[in-house]
Amino acid sequence: MTDKFTIGAQDIFLVVDIQNDFCPGGGLAVPRGDEVVPLINNLAAKYAHVVLTQDWHPRGHLSFASSHPGKQPYQTIEVAYGTQVLWPDHCVQGTEGAAFCKDLAIPHAELVLRKGYHREIDSYSAFYENDRRTRTGLAGYLRERGFRRVFLAGLAFDFCVRYSAEDARREGFEAIVIEDACRSIDVDGSMTATHELFKTLGIRCIPAEAL
Ligand SMILES: [Zn+2]
Repeated sequence: MTDKFTIGAQDIFLVVDIQNDFCPGGGLAVPRGDEVVPLINNLAAKYAHVVLTQDWHPRGHLSFASSHPGKQPYQTIEVAYGTQVLWPDHCVQGTEGAAFCKDLAIPHAELVLRKGYHREIDSYSAFYENDRRTRTGLAGYLRERGFRRVFLAGLAFDFCVRYSAEDARREGFEAIVIEDACRSIDVDGSMTATHELFKTLGIRCIPAEAL
């Protein structure tokens, strides 16, 4: 039995990275990533306040395997802030791959937050870049506007949604992930690790029908 949530004025819906490159046919396709788009549109209609994130890399970004001769996507490297997974080129600023999926229909979204624009730092989270120190400004924005609960959905569950939910908690917000409105990449057990981490941090995963 799932509790029903009542959405109020202090709730924000954070829609993570619904971009062409993360959908089938894109540069870093999340399996069945496109399936979540109609559900996210429906969910977004229930919220007065919606923020969209957009992965937004310069060419030659540090997170691209192509920036490191001899490296392949999904290998890891050690960088100044720790271990970094290398990805296929994706979401290059201004390209079609970086654009929102054409079926995403959330005209009332109030903020588009771009992340990953520093060449030398990746940014999974909507709150902090991967050095875990450089802030995107989202926490301040949400606080200034009086939001308390962050509902999350999007791509991918085990990377950008995971880190964003974790950081929402770290910043003192309640974080709730709408799991059937997410899809995973699932490298090296990342999906199981995400579920375990959410349990530890008190981040709830709920189905869309709870809303
Ligand atoms: Zn990226």
